[in-house]
Amino acid sequence: MPLFADILGQELALTVLRQALATGASHAYLLTGPPGVGKSEAAIAFAGGLTCSEGGCAVCDTCRRVRLGLHPDVEIVSAEGAFITIDQIRAINKDVVLRPFEARARVYVLFDAENMNREAANAFLKTLEEPPGHSHFILVSSSPEELPPTIVSRCQKVPFQRVATSLLADHLRSAYGCSDVEAVAYARVAQGRLAYARELATDAGTRAHRERLVGWARAAATTGPLDAQVMLEEILASVEARADARVAVLEAEKADRLQWAGDARTKSRLEKQHEQRVKRERRRAVTGGMEEVLGTFSHWYRDLAAAAVGADDAVLNHDFLFELRGQSFPGMVDRYLGAVSAVGRTRDRFRYNVDARCALEEMLFSIREAFQ
Ligand SMILES: [Zn+2]
Repeated sequence: MPLFADILGQELALTVLRQALATGASHAYLLTGPPGVGKSEAAIAFAGGLTCSEGGCAVCDTCRRVRLGLHPDVEIVSAEGAFITIDQIRAINKDVVLRPFEARARVYVLFDAENMNREAANAFLKTLEEPPGHSHFILVSSSPEELPPTIVSRCQKVPFQRVATSLLADHLRSAYGCSDVEAVAYARVAQGRLAYARELATDAGTRAHRERLVGWARAAATTGPLDAQVMLEEILASVEARADARVAVLEAEKADRLQWAGDARTKSRLEKQHEQRVKRERRRAVTGGMEEVLGTFSHWYRDLAAAAVGADDAVLNHDFLFELRGQSFPGMVDRYLGAVSAVGRTRDRFRYNVDARCALEEMLFSIREAFQ
C-alpha cells in the first residue's frame, strides 16, 4: 500500500511531499486548502515518511504506529479549547531539543495551526527560526491567512485543492461500488470534499442525515413560525447527535489504543492525546455539521432554480432530479435565489462566530420571507 493511498486528486501537493521524502525534507511545511480534502491524512502519512527508516513504506511498525497516533517521536498538537496555547508551544520548544526516542526524526503535526494565539505564535517562531537538525514541523490549516506572515514565510507551502467532481464520482464508483446516480449526486453535493463524499458512499447514518436535511430544506419555504421553531431545535439536536456519535466511535477505540502503552508514563501520554483528539474531533464534527446544514439548504434552493430553467446538469442533488423537476417553476426562480442568499448571509455570520441557534433561526425566517 503506497504511503498516500488515501489521498485523491492532489498531484501538486503530493509531488512536493514525495520529493521532500526522496531528497531530504525542510524543517517546516504548511499544508493548506479547504476542509475535508485530505490535508490531515497527508500530514500523518508524511510524518510517517519522515520517521520511517524506509522513508515511508506504509507497512512497517513505525508507519503503522504513526498512523494510529501512537509513535513517541510524532507529536500531534491541536487547540486545547479555542486556542493552541503558549503552554503547548513551550512544551514543544522544550521537547524538540531532545534526541528522537527511536526514529530518525522528531515530528510535530499542528492541526488547525491558525488557532495559535499571538503569544503562542511568537514563542513558536523562535523554534522555527533555529530548528534542531532532527526536527520537522507540519502545520495544517484551512485558513492560513489567519497565521502570522512571519510563520508562513518560514514554511514550505503545500497547497491542497477541492477534488474535481468527475474524479470524485469515478472514485466512488470504483472504490465503493456506488451506482451512477449515487456517485454523481454524492460527488456533486460534496463540492470537492473527499471526506464527505466517502462518508456518503459508505455510511448509512450520513445518508439518512442528508435526507433529513433535504427534508427540512424542502419544508423551510412553507413552514409557519411555530413549526420553524420545532425544525430549528431538531436541526440543532441532529448536529449534536452526529457529534456525539463521532465521540462514541473514538471512545470505543480508546481501549485498543491504550493496550499499546507499556508503562504508566506512556499510558498517561496516550490518555492525554486521546482526550485532545476527542475534543478536536467533536469541535470539528459540530463545525462540519453546521456546514452540512447550510450546504444542504443552499444546494436545495440552488437546485430548484437550476431545475426550473432546465439546467439539469447543474443540479447537485442529482438523486432528487425527478422531484426537483416536478416541484420547480420558472416563475419562482427569484424566490429560490432569495433563499440561497439567505443561507449565504447565515454562512457569513458563522464566520464571525455568531451563536448558531440565533443564526439558523434568522436563516429559517429569511427563507420563509423569500417565498411570501
Ligand atoms: Zn515504514
